[in-house]
Amino acid sequence: VAEPEIGTLGTAGVTLADVGGLDDVKKRLHLSFLSPLHNPELRLRFGKSLRGGLLLWGPPGCGKTLIARALAGELGARFYEIGLSDVLDMWIGSSERNLRSIFDTARRNRPCLLFFDEMDALGQKRSHLRGGGSAMRGVVNQMLAELDGAATDNEGVFVLAASNHPWDIDSALLRPGRFDRTVLVPPPDRAAREAILRFHLRGKPAENLNLARVAKATNGLSGADLALICEQGTESAMDESMISGRLQPITQRHLEDATRT
Ligand code: ATP
Repeated sequence: VAEPEIGTLGTAGVTLADVGGLDDVKKRLHLSFLSPLHNPELRLRFGKSLRGGLLLWGPPGCGKTLIARALAGELGARFYEIGLSDVLDMWIGSSERNLRSIFDTARRNRPCLLFFDEMDALGQKRSHLRGGGSAMRGVVNQMLAELDGAATDNEGVFVLAASNHPWDIDSALLRPGRFDRTVLVPPPDRAAREAILRFHLRGKPAENLNLARVAKATNGLSGADLALICEQGTESAMDESMISGRLQPITQRHLEDATRT
């Protein structure tokens, strides 16, 4: 494969403050990555290693990718997003090579954060590779070698992965030193929904919004659903502005209409 593109663009300016709610997840990221990095003396004193990856899991659209991007922002690291289905290749040996080239590129561009989406593609159940289970073993072994091989120096390469169904992931990948910490990224609760709505409407012309009310009425929706409500509310207000010839701010009605569609 061609060298993966470095996704610095997406990272620019995104920090954990841009992630609405999810306080437990943020706390975990502080404990595992940010505090040890920012307190090198304490880290040495406690012998805390920076090895090992973190697996974010949970339903789609609830912020896993956003969190990974935001962590890269906090770390001042480049961000590579890799869909594992892009890595896997039918040809025996190619998937391993693809994976090696991704890690090599990452090591040349540290500090960086590698984010593997669809991690469950690395599991026997999903094996569609020619050669079946044994071909999958080869890819899993390559991933293990890249993560914890004695010859690899991963200083400054942070690894996160995400999955909607982590139980399908090959269990060797979840052992200590690998993706050994799993963090649930749940659907947003009411406070988180309000924070997400506020984030997606920031800086836009708006009038008398009661976001707490919208948050209350959107139980069960994901962050991506809420982003869409804000987008639809924005489009309606823009449309009315164009028709009336003067700026019509986003109102409660726009958002409530959008929640019903
Ligand atoms: P998938 O499993 O489908 O890859 P995901 O969990 O990675 O989904 P994201 O891509 O991070 O989901 O979220 C989709 C979009 O929803 C984000 O780009 C963002 O606009 C919005 N979003 C989700 N969660 C949050 C949140 N907690 N705060 C702010 N925006 C959010």
